[in-house]
Amino acid sequence: MNEFGLILEYFTWPIKDPSVTIGVGDDAAVFSLEKGYQVVTTTDTLTEGIHFSANTSAKDIAQKSLAVNLSDVAAMGAKPKYFTLAISLPKIDKSWLKEFSDSLRHLSEQYEVSLVGGDTTNGPLSITITMIGTIESSKALTRSGARPGDGVYVSGTIGDAGFCFWKLTNGIVPSSYELKRLNCPIPRVELGLALKNLASACIDVSDGLEQDLSHILKSSSVGAIIEVEKIPVSEALHIHIEDTNDWTIPLCGGDDYELCFTIPEGNKELFKKVLEPCNVNITRIGVVTESLGLQIEGFDGPRSSYQHF
Ligand SMILES: [Mg+2]
Repeated sequence: MNEFGLILEYFTWPIKDPSVTIGVGDDAAVFSLEKGYQVVTTTDTLTEGIHFSANTSAKDIAQKSLAVNLSDVAAMGAKPKYFTLAISLPKIDKSWLKEFSDSLRHLSEQYEVSLVGGDTTNGPLSITITMIGTIESSKALTRSGARPGDGVYVSGTIGDAGFCFWKLTNGIVPSSYELKRLNCPIPRVELGLALKNLASACIDVSDGLEQDLSHILKSSSVGAIIEVEKIPVSEALHIHIEDTNDWTIPLCGGDDYELCFTIPEGNKELFKKVLEPCNVNITRIGVVTESLGLQIEGFDGPRSSYQHF
């Protein structure tokens, strides 16, 4: 099977979005933009041995590759629309490719994003997805809008993926819930869209809550106080924290793909109405302050978030 056969067999499916004029199969993709909208784009690479282990299933690899990119577009408050896939494969393994392709297609249909192009090469297993989204002009949620007095919030529970990773590296079998949280994160696309008229700043939690919230604070030239006891954690992780008195996992674990955002106090009522239909818990964990830096109340142990190099 050559490259063209491979693309045809595994990465070409009907595109339902009428804004895509030319999808897979030409030199480049063409799509139309609605007037008054801006393009939001992001790219993420997942490499075997770095971002996932050799025994991760093709289904989970596809899901995570797409989810982490959807999550970045969600953090901008934008609607994900199109994506390209560059995949490097050590060999052509038809059953692996079928599983990968089915999973990618399934999730892309769920989030209504169209695969419009890409590249396939021979080499160590690595997946790069570039996601393209759209948003009404100058509505994008950035990291730089947080102001003193705004509440600091997170979605879902924090630290499940980190707890799973901690268990795996310590020879403890994680629960199926924890494995799912690590391998198949849920991108908070609906929440991001709801937040675009509400939040003053937003980021997705990929490298650890402490580090990612600090990005908002630096970009916004503000500080924050958060209380560890308020960070929403799952029951099993809560027991682990009670036993060890160690909040490192929720603070630094990373790979959560929940959203961390700030909301002006005045928006509180509106916020209940807008966020309720998003079907995810939202928790206030602290407040933005004028004095710079992140103050963490309730835990002063050593901390180190994920570093890429
Ligand atoms: Mg991000």
